Amino acid sequence: MRRPLQARPDHGHRPVRRWAGRWVVRLWAAPWTLLGLGCGLLAWLGGASLQRHGGAIEVTGGRFGHWLAARPGACCAITLGHVILATDAATLATFRLHEQVHVRQYERWGPLFVPAYLVAGAWAWLCRRDAYRDNAFEREAYVTQGCARPRSAGE
Ligand SMILES: [Zn+2]
Repeated sequence: MRRPLQARPDHGHRPVRRWAGRWVVRLWAAPWTLLGLGCGLLAWLGGASLQRHGGAIEVTGGRFGHWLAARPGACCAITLGHVILATDAATLATFRLHEQVHVRQYERWGPLFVPAYLVAGAWAWLCRRDAYRDNAFEREAYVTQGCARPRSAGE
């Protein structure tokens, strides 16, 4: 007869392990976070607002927000590691869940995230699908946000 499993005493190590684990994923994503911090610093110098939320630094508004909104194909938010840059606070509120999924993807893939993202987009395109809307990373983010799939301009 087997003895019933007993919970091991954690001797208070769990918070330390959790804290160490958070720093490991931050370091793993650090190359892209550093790029995001550079962009965030420039945006802040141009009048953007900064805040922390969900383990990420959020950057909204300012000249950078206007620049982001004015780009052809209008990108309204972008995530670089643990930095989320958005055109304005209202847009960020709409896309926060989506961008937080990208933060978790950076934590999973680290320095490989952007190359993997580009490969996923190229794969979708080679399969005669949309490189953005059918990108596996975007689909995961849109499903988490509550959309089955992003809409194109004509939908
Ligand atoms: Zn996305």
